[in-house]
Amino acid sequence: MKTLIALRKIVSAAVLANALGVCVQLGSAHPNDGDSLVRVLPVRGRIYMLVGAGANITMQVGDDGILLVDTGGAKMSDQVLAAIRTISSKPIRYIVNTSIDADHTGGNVAITKAGDTIAGGNVLGDIGESATRGAAIISFQTILDRMSASKGADVAPQGAWPTDTYERPQKNLFINDEAVEIIHEPAAHTDGDSLVFFRRSDVVSTGDVFSTVGYPVIDRERGGSIQGIIDALNVLLYQVTISGPKEEGGTLIVPGHGRLCDQADLVVYQEMVTIIRDRVENMVKKGMTLEQVKAAKPTSDYDPVYGASTGPWTTDMFVEAVYNSLAIQKDATQSASAPTFDTRVRK
Ligand SMILES: [Zn+2]
Repeated sequence: MKTLIALRKIVSAAVLANALGVCVQLGSAHPNDGDSLVRVLPVRGRIYMLVGAGANITMQVGDDGILLVDTGGAKMSDQVLAAIRTISSKPIRYIVNTSIDADHTGGNVAITKAGDTIAGGNVLGDIGESATRGAAIISFQTILDRMSASKGADVAPQGAWPTDTYERPQKNLFINDEAVEIIHEPAAHTDGDSLVFFRRSDVVSTGDVFSTVGYPVIDRERGGSIQGIIDALNVLLYQVTISGPKEEGGTLIVPGHGRLCDQADLVVYQEMVTIIRDRVENMVKKGMTLEQVKAAKPTSDYDPVYGASTGPWTTDMFVEAVYNSLAIQKDATQSASAPTFDTRVRK
């Protein structure tokens, strides 16, 4: 698909300078908080991708206003808002956060303030003018739990907190003539990840379960796991995306970091993560220690594309997170005689 290839070239050039980082900690200094120009890439119809503000931002625009998926790093908000205004002067209605990380939620404070939520029914009468002040921030419940409990150097200002959380497997919205499905992934990058699927446009925004520039960040302290990443990639592959003719185009995918993708790109990533999981799992079954697994280099053939020896998410950290996820799972399986890795029934 020539258009897609052309788009990829544009995106590749734009993201090379901007998307080399990953995001681990709320409030942490981060090389991918965004440090250059924010660029707007038309994806399809009413959907745009904003690149260069930290994590990728997905924007849906129309007569009802603007919906954003993630808000980039805090210091990039002015540029993000300026980029949005090159496309639409409509109010920003909704922000959906795919995870808690600072390069996905850092712009929440400034960007929600610039927005204006939709208040229906008697909301205005009941709680007054404040009901329409600022865009609504939607996320899975655990993001609000962690933000509201945060303190010290990692404190999340109250203006960044989600205002509309969900706890079921899925939350649906209808805006700009389009059904938007917000799908929870329970234990992937964290326990609070959301995929955002724009049904009419056939575009999905994945957050940090998918990246073209690094191994998936498994934040085990916040409930992430290797199996949860694979489960999320399988949902994207088998339940959300459909490839176009000759396996090009079809559903377009905005990853958490990196360039615009289609299903063929997703397949490559899903296979890579699954193969590495299988290799490490075999080593765990053989009783190898973490040091022995690292020495065996189970990722070496993928390292030229996804590996990192410095920065916030190194290959060593990835292997350690995979090992620890699987070692703990193995212990639990043995003690409970529970079924093993691939038998979880979804939703
Ligand atoms: Zn990220």
